[in-house]
Amino acid sequence: MKKIAVLTSGGDAPGMNAAIRAIVRTGIDAGMDVYGVRQGYAGLIAGDFVYLSRRDVGGIMHTGGTMLGSARCDEFRTLEGRQKAIDALCKQGIEALVVIGGNGSQAGAYDLWQMGYPVVGVASTIDNDLEGSDVTIGVDTAINVALEAIDRLKVTAASHRRAFLVEVMGRKCGYVALVSGIAGGAEVVVISEREVAPEEVARELRAAYERGKNHALVVVAEGAQNNAQKLIQHFEADEGAIGFGLRATILGHVQRGANPTSADRLLATRLGHGAVRALARGERGVLIGLRGDHLASTPLGEIVGRQKPLDLSLFELARIMAQ
Ligand code: ATP
Repeated sequence: MKKIAVLTSGGDAPGMNAAIRAIVRTGIDAGMDVYGVRQGYAGLIAGDFVYLSRRDVGGIMHTGGTMLGSARCDEFRTLEGRQKAIDALCKQGIEALVVIGGNGSQAGAYDLWQMGYPVVGVASTIDNDLEGSDVTIGVDTAINVALEAIDRLKVTAASHRRAFLVEVMGRKCGYVALVSGIAGGAEVVVISEREVAPEEVARELRAAYERGKNHALVVVAEGAQNNAQKLIQHFEADEGAIGFGLRATILGHVQRGANPTSADRLLATRLGHGAVRALARGERGVLIGLRGDHLASTPLGEIVGRQKPLDLSLFELARIMAQ
């Protein structure tokens, strides 16, 4: 195999640049030419390729976002759109594609593979909801950003005897909320996998107040039915129910753009390297992820359309630690 391409797709995740760097340098080391595709599947359809040398991917390891750009592209969901993409790849003489992205992006990669085009996926999403990898590129950084905010809010909360509601990203998956809730010492964690009614949130906060705590913290996943907005609306009517004054902070996209942590840089480097090695071995239509401490290839057909289940024993851990 002499010519491959790499693209980043879906939401940007800290560590994507480190993965691009690893793919380019491993590819060149194996005697390949490596092309980047700008703006994800949209750029693929448009044939927007750029040759990448070892030096082109220097100085990007420590930066968040993606040097190639990313996009959400509806045209790629159609057969005609994907055929245009394959035509563009073939016209450029590119023999295989590495797709760095989350669930939707890997569904797109699987579609290409089903149409006969060689692809390998790299597990990357801050949501950590992708089957085939215990952890995905970006999630460690997203949790650390959430934690930094939580730690600061706790200082303010304690000074004013307040409760803080912090809503974190993660789409339908509560992983980021649960882990940052445990590591941040939250009184309550609200996630879609284990919904907590506003009355129960109030009970836990009131109990913390009566135990003499001078602050309290609720971490809420954006995908929870009772998200920050709903909980605030509920408590606005009855602040007395929780003892504390209540404030809400929605972290939103600030969680995405941070510099990747060492864990994300290492994970991205290992997965990117592993993806090129897999292609060189002749593997096709697989996702490269991490299982335990080992790289794992999982057929894309086994992961597409599924969401990795959350380990709910962590929810119990959060509950016990909050007492
Ligand atoms: P994140 O987890 O960060 O949101 P993602 O990869 O899940 O990343 P999506 O927006 O779901 O992000 O998907 C990215 C792109 O992948 C879409 O804009 C679309 O072009 C393509 N895609 C998504 N789902 C499919 C599908 N079922 N078939 C073909 N292409 C798809």
